[in-house]
Amino acid sequence: MTTVYDGHCHVASTHFIPSAFVEDVAGNVHTRLAARGGPSPTVARIARGYADQHQDHLADGLVAEMDAAGIDRAVLLVPDFSLRMPGCAPPAAAARLHQEIRQRHPQRFWVYIGVDPRRGPDGVRAFAQMVGEYALDGVKLYPPCGYSPSDPGLYPYYEICAALSLPVFVHTGPTAASLDYEPAHPLNVDRAARDFPGVDFVLGHAGLTHVEVGSYLAAYRPNVYLDIGGFGSTPTLPNWPEHLNRLFRAGINHKIIFGTDWPLGRMGGGLKRLTDEVLHGPTVFAGISRTDRRLILCENLLRVLAPDSRPAPHPTAPP
Ligand SMILES: [Zn+2]
Repeated sequence: MTTVYDGHCHVASTHFIPSAFVEDVAGNVHTRLAARGGPSPTVARIARGYADQHQDHLADGLVAEMDAAGIDRAVLLVPDFSLRMPGCAPPAAAARLHQEIRQRHPQRFWVYIGVDPRRGPDGVRAFAQMVGEYALDGVKLYPPCGYSPSDPGLYPYYEICAALSLPVFVHTGPTAASLDYEPAHPLNVDRAARDFPGVDFVLGHAGLTHVEVGSYLAAYRPNVYLDIGGFGSTPTLPNWPEHLNRLFRAGINHKIIFGTDWPLGRMGGGLKRLTDEVLHGPTVFAGISRTDRRLILCENLLRVLAPDSRPAPHPTAPP
C-alpha cells in the first residue's frame, strides 16, 4: 500500500473563502461557457453553486473523500484574504476553527495558517501565540492580496519559522480576477529563500503554471519545493496525466509535493477520481521509480514539516 499525503487542501467552507473570490471565479466560468454558445447560467447562479459546495464547515465531507481515495493525511491551507477581501474569518478565528476540525478528526490534518505582512508587529505576536497554542504546522502566504513573499514585513515570521522548522507555502500564478498577479510570480520568493536558507518554501501550483521558473528554483535552491495542487481541475490542462508525467521526468522528484487543491474540482468526481488516475492510471507514474513515487506522494512533505509534526511510524513498519 502506498502512503499518500495530500499537501494542498482547503476546508470547503464559506467561513474561509470570501464571496468576492467566489464571484470572480464564477465570472470566469460564465465567460468560458458563454463563449461556446451553449446555455450559460448567470454569474450569480454559478456563485451560488460554489457557495453550496462550501458548506463542509467541519471537514466531515473532506475526510469521507480522503477515506474513499486512500489519502491518509492532508495539509489544510488557510489563506488570509481578510485585508483585501472582507467577509471571511481573520487568522485568529480561522486558526481556532481549524483546531476544532483537527480535534474532531485526529491524526488527519496538518494546518498552515495565513499571515499578511501589513498586519505589522501585532500580526507577528498573534502568529507566535497561535503557533504555540494550536501547534500549527506551517505558514500560508497569498501574495495576490498585494505583497511580495520577500516583503521585509514577513521576515519576523520567517525568523519564527526558522526557529521552529515550519514550512512556508506560497501561492504562485493566477487567481481571482480582482487580485494582483504580479506579486504571485514565483521569482518573488527568491530573495526570501536566500535570506532564510533554514526555511523551506513550497511554491503553490508551480508544477502547473510558471513551470520552467518553478522547476529551476526547485532544482537549484535547496530550500524551494514545487506543489502540483489543482492539476486535475484547471481548464488549461486537459491532458494533466501527460503533463504530470513530463514534470516527473524533469529530475526534480526530490522536490515535488503531491497536492490536489481540494475542493477545487469537487464537482468533477472528487478526490477518488483524481487519486485513482494518479495511482492506478497508465500515464502519471509511467517510467518513474518506486523511490521517486514515494518521494512525491509522502516523503518530500514529511521532510519540510517540523519533526514534531510528523506522524509516528506505524508500529508494524520495518525500521
Ligand atoms: Zn489552494
